[in-house]
Amino acid sequence: MSRASKTALAPDLRDCDERTVRAWTEPMAVTPLGGGCYRVDTDGDTYTVDVPGHRCTCPDYHYRHAHCKHRRRVAIEITQERVPAPGQRRADCAYCGHESFVPETATVPLCSDCRLDDDDVAVDRETADTLVVRRVHPDRADEYVIEATGKTVAAHDTNEDYPADDPVVEAVYLGDRLRNDDPRVYAFPYSRLRQVEDAELVD
Ligand SMILES: [Zn+2]
Ligand SMILES: [Zn+2]
Repeated sequence: MSRASKTALAPDLRDCDERTVRAWTEPMAVTPLGGGCYRVDTDGDTYTVDVPGHRCTCPDYHYRHAHCKHRRRVAIEITQERVPAPGQRRADCAYCGHESFVPETATVPLCSDCRLDDDDVAVDRETADTLVVRRVHPDRADEYVIEATGKTVAAHDTNEDYPADDPVVEAVYLGDRLRNDDPRVYAFPYSRLRQVEDAELVD
């Protein structure tokens, strides 16, 4: 058996400057505010760190433009995945339910395992047709009404084996898209589609 390599889990604080030591060791609570800003509560004071703006509201930053302990603490908490990075938020995945960090702008939160993006290719498990994803819709299968039939996606005949609370995926048939600039969009329960890995598309 190969031996795991030895690694330290925290920096050697004996070699660090004072602000770094404080960032690691002082009790602070970091709360994401959105837009890349974080509230940092310390013993007695509350400051706001703006990560994209490289700023903090504390006196250390204000008077000395220091890379203060609050900015360092926010960076540590992002790296350790205790708080979402700028542009992300914490959410339960709409498909598998696992909590993860998703893009702040995502209308339907999906974890990295379940995520479907525009132009991802998927196969319809019922027909083996190849589809191109347009978007994941915010309505669930039992909420999304198919205009042509007046029935929900969940109530559609061929969808009865799929969960009624699935997210709905809007997609076009690959063949339609190759022939037509404005192909018709169809709606599917998420579980009915099998995502095709890039490697499968090579042949
Ligand atoms: Zn600060
Ligand atoms: Zn998921």
